[in-house]
Amino acid sequence: MRYAAATLAVAALLLTACTSDTDQPNGSPSPAPAASPTGDAADGFSTPVEDSVYPDVGDPGVDALHYGLSLTWDSGSRTLDAVERLRFRATADADHVRLDLAPPLHPTTVTVDGADAPYEHDGKDLVVTHPVTANGEYTLVLHYSGRPEPVPAPVQRSDFSSTGWTTTADGGVWTMQEPYGAYTWYAVNDQPSDKALYDVAISAPAPMVGVSNGRLLSRTEAGGRTLTRWRLDEPASSYLVTVAIGDLRTGRAESSSGVPISYWAPTDRPDLMRRLHRAPAGMDWLEDKLGPFPFGTLGFLVVDSKSGMETQTMITLGDTRYATSPEVLVHEMAHQWYGDEVTPVDWRDVWMNEGMAMFLQGVWMTEHGGPSMDALFGQWAGYDEQLRSDAGPPAYFHPDSFGAGNVYYIPAVMWNELRKKLGDDLFWRLVREWPSAHEDGNADYDAITTWWSQQSGQDLQDFFNTWLLSPDTPASP
Ligand SMILES: [Zn+2]
Repeated sequence: MRYAAATLAVAALLLTACTSDTDQPNGSPSPAPAASPTGDAADGFSTPVEDSVYPDVGDPGVDALHYGLSLTWDSGSRTLDAVERLRFRATADADHVRLDLAPPLHPTTVTVDGADAPYEHDGKDLVVTHPVTANGEYTLVLHYSGRPEPVPAPVQRSDFSSTGWTTTADGGVWTMQEPYGAYTWYAVNDQPSDKALYDVAISAPAPMVGVSNGRLLSRTEAGGRTLTRWRLDEPASSYLVTVAIGDLRTGRAESSSGVPISYWAPTDRPDLMRRLHRAPAGMDWLEDKLGPFPFGTLGFLVVDSKSGMETQTMITLGDTRYATSPEVLVHEMAHQWYGDEVTPVDWRDVWMNEGMAMFLQGVWMTEHGGPSMDALFGQWAGYDEQLRSDAGPPAYFHPDSFGAGNVYYIPAVMWNELRKKLGDDLFWRLVREWPSAHEDGNADYDAITTWWSQQSGQDLQDFFNTWLLSPDTPASP
């Protein structure tokens, strides 16, 4: 997600009632370890965990492999009618399957492998009674409908306060759903360790058109409705899924390396479409730093929001000048490597995403007319003490301050310190190798810190712990 500098001051004012109990990492490991995946990560097999920061969302008993979503949107009544076909692996023996599904959505029928299955929908927990065995694979089909509503986000930010399916005044739709909120529009294991493949079909009243992740397989119009079919054949966590419905115009471009790029922006805002045309140059710069773009296609989708989100292969941007600025385009594209190709196992490690995206954004700024590296990173280092005090250390943040400046600026400065410590050649080689060494996967704190120590030949554990877990600002080197 992008970060607005203006948020910093606001965050400081909003601060708080948070207690600071920062001597150990938050949470405990998942109580029931999941049976190991029986297939490839590229096919959507994962090792789901219970989130240590937001344990009420997601269930480690389910390993979603593929979501097939057929969405029909009525913009007048603001009603979503949907059929979901979920293929999943059970990770343990159980007499039920639990998914997240928001209360405004009402299931009408649920089947598992073709047989009717009883279910309870209490709060956002959809519990389907059906016996499953560890490593068994099942297909759950769910019909549901309702008027989707966003849910409150655990944030103290100026650019958003809720997540999930958001309906605009004219009956259009957009979604941003980090750290959770996908469950406001489909039944999902809404936790980042569970990556899955997606097919999404969207029927919308013309001239509206539905947009989602991946490749556009078809677009047809009949009976006053637009039907689009999208396929994401590279596994994604649920927070990286996007859907939007609106009167959108589309455009095309290509990176120098040949990655097809599509643009989707409001028909009445050609100025926003023009701003997106800065993307291919940013992509060229990132491929030079990080290696080949990890996915087959990329798109940019402009919606009625103030924020920006690195939704996989289809970046969702607010319709503001800042959210469509070249540095934000670079930031969200950088996440395609850091966050999307390799994703944190749980929300404790969102710093893995934001720290590197912010570092790369900073380097890009210094090379495109911005201040010097020393000036920029020196300025960001000056935020450290306040950010730790407001929201906790980056890898042990206060759960009600998700996505605060602490997970952006502190690890961005840390990466710059590591660059100076290791030298540019080694540092950039490892920055480039980490995502491709974890293609389609997830990683946690121990994995990334151990990997950097092993690959650099230096014991960096104290370095990382000091920057990421200490309540105190590290001493200047
Ligand atoms: Zn970001």
